[in-house]
Amino acid sequence: MMLYLILVVPTIFLGMWAQSKVMGAYKKWSKVGNRRGMTGYDAARIVMERAGIHDVEIVPIRGQLSDHYDPTSKRLALSEQNYHGRSLAAVGIAAHEAGHAIQHATGYSMLKLRMGLVPVTTFASKMLPFVLLGGIFFHMTGLITLGVLAYLVLTIFQLVTLPVEFDASKRAKAQLVNGGILYDEEMEGVNDTLDSAAWTYVAAFIASLANLIYLFLLSRD
Ligand SMILES: [Zn+2]
Repeated sequence: MMLYLILVVPTIFLGMWAQSKVMGAYKKWSKVGNRRGMTGYDAARIVMERAGIHDVEIVPIRGQLSDHYDPTSKRLALSEQNYHGRSLAAVGIAAHEAGHAIQHATGYSMLKLRMGLVPVTTFASKMLPFVLLGGIFFHMTGLITLGVLAYLVLTIFQLVTLPVEFDASKRAKAQLVNGGILYDEEMEGVNDTLDSAAWTYVAAFIASLANLIYLFLLSRD
């Protein structure tokens, strides 16, 4: 119990901190319009066109910050607020997702690795609740070992996600200025939004790693 308090609980707070940071940045910069009046849709389209990508569909979807690029269907999904929005946050996030499309089109190695890890990661996260329930509450040693393996998979996945996310933001920032979508002085809003979002991925990795270490130490008792 003591071990859990020291190792895992702080990472829960770190995750909450990162989440509130990204919500705060989004709230702030989704109110600031960009000077050229570009929508998130415009930004994603321009960034992809400049990279020679013409076979990715851009669609609006429900939900807040539900934006993502789906490599299997080559679909760039933007939350309605970012699809239609003309804020710095909207174009920043849209350009970030376009950054993932560029990674996919150019065969960026870390994205390939991440995509390859998706099936095993999905399996690990689905079995995790049962493994933890049996392992920790009923002290079934075999299940704890299985839990260690599951968290190992999740931690590796979160680790590979980091360069993928940082790289997508880097590509987005470069394209927004070079592509004439934003002025230099508008980049502060984009940097704040995307850098805050990056913290949530760092927090997720640290949380996963803490759980892995915790279960590993538990399995040795
Ligand atoms: Zn991303």
